[in-house]
Amino acid sequence: MSEHRLLMIPGPIELEPSVLAAMGQRSTSHVDPDFVPVMGRAIAALRTVMLAPSAQPFVIAGSGTLAMEMACASLIERGDRALVIDTGYFSARMASILERLGAEVTRVSATPGEVPSIDAIDEAIRATKPTLVAITHVDTSTGVRIHVEPIARLAKEHGALVVLDAVCSAAGEVIRQDAWGIDVVLTGSQKALGAPPGLAVLTVSEAALARRRARKTPPASLYLDLLEWLPIMQAYEAGKPAYFATPAVSLVCALDQSLAGIVREGMETRFERHARVARAFRAAFAALGLAMLPARDAICASTLSAVRYPSGVDASLAQAMRDEGVVIAGGLHPDLKATYFRIGHMGSTDRAELLTTIGALERALTRGGHPCEPGVGVTAAMRALAS
Ligand SMILES: *Cc1c(COP(=O)(O)O)cnc(C)c1O
Repeated sequence: MSEHRLLMIPGPIELEPSVLAAMGQRSTSHVDPDFVPVMGRAIAALRTVMLAPSAQPFVIAGSGTLAMEMACASLIERGDRALVIDTGYFSARMASILERLGAEVTRVSATPGEVPSIDAIDEAIRATKPTLVAITHVDTSTGVRIHVEPIARLAKEHGALVVLDAVCSAAGEVIRQDAWGIDVVLTGSQKALGAPPGLAVLTVSEAALARRRARKTPPASLYLDLLEWLPIMQAYEAGKPAYFATPAVSLVCALDQSLAGIVREGMETRFERHARVARAFRAAFAALGLAMLPARDAICASTLSAVRYPSGVDASLAQAMRDEGVVIAGGLHPDLKATYFRIGHMGSTDRAELLTTIGALERALTRGGHPCEPGVGVTAAMRALAS
């Protein structure tokens, strides 16, 4: 590859040098005595990262979508009712997965940039009595973050399992899986977990595993069945190798390094850093005359920002940013795609990446027809960081 450009999209993200080094090691056997503890450590660390001491972690070769399929395929039987809290593109994907599995799916939707009200969700739970409620924590298509805890509480009160698509939030946004009573938190390795793409990650409650065991028929897919993987995860954590399907050895080595860094930083510190950096980004956007896609500050994600193009600027902004050395993402929500761009700020993003990105944005906007006084955004970002 040519010259390095700073990667500021909502995954894959920039990798720490220790993670890159782990990826570069010679390949080993998946049952090698040197690899077994690496896999075991990664599994154990996920309980710390998800604040889920009672959950069972799973690390499986595949992307975040595979983690979505595993949760649904293991927990849904044909004819089961599921409620999808719909905040955008990835909620729609969750609904499709559930429908293909034969679930009767109800959606509580909001206009893009908004979240459904808790009253609407309460009403839908009462009306449909779902066995599973699926929530997208941060919908990556709109940069909207939903308040998970009260929804989980309502779902639990009605005996539903709660599945949280945390692909764009886990290890960046506050998640307290045990305290909030979430049955499945699922994510992918390439977002705030700070590893390369290629691993599906889930932490699963005992209640969810009990639901899987109580099924009338096993899931149609062998690979997607959590129960097939359970003894494998338990064996590795106990320091013993086991085989069901080959783990992605190099990626697990990278994930282990990344998780070690996350645990060292500490979850509360990490949540706070993400929130602070995101606020500074928003301060800079405001100073540059740009509006956020999310309707309110309180529902703006800390892991990425979705920002509307100012008048006169279009999707060519991404190329102008690339010329300035920073890679950003375009819109994703089908209804609004052409009207906004997205900047990811998760993982190890801190001051340096923030200031580089905003500096590049000032220049790219000016070139694109929205003149910015040099330094206006950067100054606002620095002020926000200091306050
Ligand atoms: C990225 C993402 C996914 C899909 O993950 P892949 O690794 O691309 O399969 C699902 N949900 C959310 C919220 C995401 O951000």
